[in-house]
Amino acid sequence: MAERARLAGIGASEGVAVGPVFVHRPGELKPERETIPEGSADAELERFREAVAVVVEQLAETADELRNAGSESEAGIFDAHAEMAEDEDLHEGVEERVRGLQSPEAAILEVGEEYAALFAAMDDEYMAARADDVRDVAHQIAAQLMGRDATGLASLGTPSVVLATSLAPSDTARIPKGMALAFVTAEGSKTSHVSIMARSMGIPAVVGVGAILEGSFDAKSVAVDGGEGFAVVDPDPETVAGFEAKMEVMAEERAALEKYRDIEARTSDGRRIEVAANLGSAKDAEDAISMGAEGVGLFRTEFLFMERDQLPTEDEQYENYAAVTRAFGERPVVIRTLDVGGDKDLPGVDQPVEENPFLGWRGIRMCLDVPELFKPQLRALLRAGAHGNLKIMFPMVADVSEIRAAKKILDECRDELQSEGAEFGTVSVGVMVETPAAAILAEALAPEVDFFSIGTNDLVQYTLAADRGNEKLRHLQSADHPAVLKLIGMTCEAARGAGIWVGVCGEAAGEPVLIPKLIELGVTELSMSAPSIPRAKKVVSEV
Ligand code: PEP
Ligand code: MG
Repeated sequence: MAERARLAGIGASEGVAVGPVFVHRPGELKPERETIPEGSADAELERFREAVAVVVEQLAETADELRNAGSESEAGIFDAHAEMAEDEDLHEGVEERVRGLQSPEAAILEVGEEYAALFAAMDDEYMAARADDVRDVAHQIAAQLMGRDATGLASLGTPSVVLATSLAPSDTARIPKGMALAFVTAEGSKTSHVSIMARSMGIPAVVGVGAILEGSFDAKSVAVDGGEGFAVVDPDPETVAGFEAKMEVMAEERAALEKYRDIEARTSDGRRIEVAANLGSAKDAEDAISMGAEGVGLFRTEFLFMERDQLPTEDEQYENYAAVTRAFGERPVVIRTLDVGGDKDLPGVDQPVEENPFLGWRGIRMCLDVPELFKPQLRALLRAGAHGNLKIMFPMVADVSEIRAAKKILDECRDELQSEGAEFGTVSVGVMVETPAAAILAEALAPEVDFFSIGTNDLVQYTLAADRGNEKLRHLQSADHPAVLKLIGMTCEAARGAGIWVGVCGEAAGEPVLIPKLIELGVTELSMSAPSIPRAKKVVSEV
């Protein structure tokens, strides 16, 4: 036990928490009985149908909750799962096996696996991605049959620390509000999905702790320090007391920051600095506003694409973008076009296996090559622009020709909407400065756009040639490096010359030691995970 008492990893989201353990182990459900006695098939099939009905009802409830919260795309995942649970072929497969005296839980797991294997073998990536869905649904039905809590995350009813090998967007989206006290994952980096989610949910997270969940893991409670990057399994009373003391100090700090939450951030000499939120989902808009967000500096649209098995339609995208834009009224909302590739795969798009995915076909490079992906998004953004102050931002730009090509497609979309008589708004256009090339070419890029937003997460990785997810390179993963600061300075100078504004939307924007340096260099907007906003406003006001 001693060797696993302390789990060291990457501090991915600040804060401390102590609570009961909830281990999320998808794919590890074993049937309690393999066979059933002769003559019991009818009764067992009746139990099977009842279990399906309960699961379908739970899925429908989750879908409704998400829909009411404005998350149409996430709700769609649960609708599709409910449909799958009622699939006739699936039921026939189970019935045949139960009549052959296999237990219904063993039967549904087996049929689920068969279907999953069929899906996984398909060339079409949409279909291949359904393997996990059908497995997931089969597990939920089997768990219901065995009276176990397998919906797991979706039915988490006690606030708990969630431990998992990794957590996907559809996993975190299922957790009922307030039920996750913290995340601890075996895999992941500071900028992986689970880390970004934890920061926007305001809960601590430690990622990259290694293969803790292999074999049995029977801990009852865990204490997590997401700032320091470690967790203590089954902490003794003294450790718990230490964590509780730290929690109190942090709560006091938060209370002291309250007064900064709703101020308009200005430096002590009166320079206005906009403090905005990074969002991954439209449903986070209200929370961000209540944390004092003065706008959105980065809406990462890829989660809308990754949380589902199929590409969202133009209308679905429009609803989503319009919802965030409306929520912020006149405040600016910067929406980034799709940035997948690298660490983010996209179900529904054939992505090549690349030796260096971070140097590969991602962001604007992919979008320019796949107009059937890019154009519906641009059309949806233009339409959503009718509802507020929407700004479009292009990621991973490394050459002036890319921004010109993107703007040309945007113009085409505008012309199409015009000739269709569709409503659309005036949107401004910006470039994300996250490749060294974009910073070096800032003078040439600036006349092409209305703003720059510096993506320090990638700018650091590309400038210092240090993989942003590699735990061993932590000393090379800070924007507080002279090479990076020099590139930020060049970007700001070029922007000044062209009369456009510069923001920072990478993690550096929320770091108290960096904020004064960024402002000094000429940055006028800082965008970060919402819980960091009050502290950032305080730091700004002291500059
Ligand atoms: C960045 O690179 O700094 C950034 C904000 O984008 P992402 O983290 O989504 O790559
Ligand atoms: Mg980036």
